[in-house]
Amino acid sequence: MKTVKDYIRTIPDFPHEGIMFRDVTTLFSDPRGFRMAVDQLLHPYVGTKIDKVVGLEARGFILGGAIAHQLSIGFIPVRKAGKLPGKVISQDYKLEYGEATVELHDDAIQAGEKILVIDDLLATGGTAEAGIKLIERLGGEIVGCGFVIDLPELGGRKRLEALGVDVKALCT
Ligand code: IMP
Repeated sequence: MKTVKDYIRTIPDFPHEGIMFRDVTTLFSDPRGFRMAVDQLLHPYVGTKIDKVVGLEARGFILGGAIAHQLSIGFIPVRKAGKLPGKVISQDYKLEYGEATVELHDDAIQAGEKILVIDDLLATGGTAEAGIKLIERLGGEIVGCGFVIDLPELGGRKRLEALGVDVKALCT
């Protein structure tokens, strides 16, 4: 039987020379692959109280939306700067070259709500950490962070675990 990893395609030299891009569009486009990914991301949290799913732009929206629907709970997007229409809080974080900013609507999460964070891939953990900080600034409590792929050599898991966050990934 195929595993989640079997549906992921690697595109060399995208978006820059020397980068091996892990492409999950082939996972999402396959009916078995997509269901497998959503079910496996959800599985560790069955029976756990979760109030909202937060998805990180952009592929975290696709997975996180499906998970929120499955749990019959709300979905909240963490977006790149300038995309959300309402009043936002912002969090800067470092990229390999330069900086980036992510934002969250300031009324998206109520203090004490239990939040599951979802994205497709964990690399350095900078994006997820920025998302976690936004959620925690609004008083949200992180139940866990789920990813399809973890690139362990880039240290993201250790970085998030150092914040006390439970990290789950479907493959490395
Ligand atoms: P990090 O902030 O270094 O952990 O990078 C993770 C973010 O970059 C996630 O939002 C991913 O969607 C994106 N990303 C980095 N490399 C890849 C890749 O090879 N495939 C898909 N997304 C990637």
